[in-house]
Amino acid sequence: KVVCVTGAGGFIASWIVKLLLQRGHTVRGTLRDPADPKKIEHLRALDGSADRLHLFKADLLEEGSFDAVVDGCECVFHTASPFYNNPKDPQIELIDPAVKGTLNVLASCKKASSLKRVVLTSSMAAVVFTENPLSPEVVVDDTSFSIPELCEKAKEWYVLSKTLAEQAAWKFSKDNGIDLVTINPAMVIGPLLQPTLNTSAQLVLYLISGSPVYLNYSFGWVNVKDVALAHVLACEVPSASGRYCMVDRVIHFSEIVKIIHEMYPSLPVPDKCADDQPFAPTYQVSRDKVKSLGIELTPFETSLKETIECLKDKSFISF
Ligand code: NDP
Repeated sequence: KVVCVTGAGGFIASWIVKLLLQRGHTVRGTLRDPADPKKIEHLRALDGSADRLHLFKADLLEEGSFDAVVDGCECVFHTASPFYNNPKDPQIELIDPAVKGTLNVLASCKKASSLKRVVLTSSMAAVVFTENPLSPEVVVDDTSFSIPELCEKAKEWYVLSKTLAEQAAWKFSKDNGIDLVTINPAMVIGPLLQPTLNTSAQLVLYLISGSPVYLNYSFGWVNVKDVALAHVLACEVPSASGRYCMVDRVIHFSEIVKIIHEMYPSLPVPDKCADDQPFAPTYQVSRDKVKSLGIELTPFETSLKETIECLKDKSFISF
């Protein structure tokens, strides 16, 4: 198949591109700056890239920017979206590129007669932020949608950006007859292909860099290779549909530091929580749907180890 991956140089996207090339597809990757060596050298090094990887410049906020690259593709993987915390201007930095960018890409998809399916990289951020109380007995699944008003009230701007983007994508797809599938991963870790540090890998680095405290959060975690495979299968398997939550385990930071300490006793992990509030509760996430795609999720410990080993190999940390 000829397919398009937006934001091709990013952490998750690079793994999607790698897998697509391995499986014989021809990939058109978009980047804001296709001349930036930090974004493209690792893509150019992938097997199959010389013949079947073509890079294009496209900008989420420029209307029509994706028309030419999407035209002729059977599937579009829309992964590009800013992921970081504490923006100065959440609307401009996070929400506009997420929401307007998604609608911009979908508008190009609507015009392409070749297009069969769009696979959107959404997030568990668009799933779990509801009024339903969370506890270890609760099982969250793909029927749960985050509530934008709650995200806004809590000033969770990235969560809001992903929630609004997915909502807008479903509405646009229904209104315009686009076959949309979303992949909703929690924190994605595992080996980095790109040379730069992305936000989720940064969280792991923070825990092993001598910080005195850990955050009072319970996050879900999933391996980047599983997330990439889910994207590719969502395109290849005709019966794939709806949303695919991807979480191997939800775990509190206090437990993560214990696991790191057992695996790497020499690493300086924090031993205190950043606040004195009760620990944020964990919860379960159903794996039924993602299993139906044929995916077995990598255990959290393995993903964590792969991440730490990669941070060491890439000299983000030495020990
Ligand atoms: P990266 O930061 O590695 O990649 C993000 C990509 O988005 C970059 O390649 C960048 O493309 C593109 N991008 C960012 N801002 C803009 C913008 N303003 N205009 C155009 N392109 C932009 O992040 P991840 O790989 O971690 O994230 C990829 C996707 O996965 C995002 O949609 C994110 O929300 C989602 N996700 C990530 C999770 C994680 O834990 N990492 C968890 C759940 C979902 P360019 O190369 O052109 O700069």
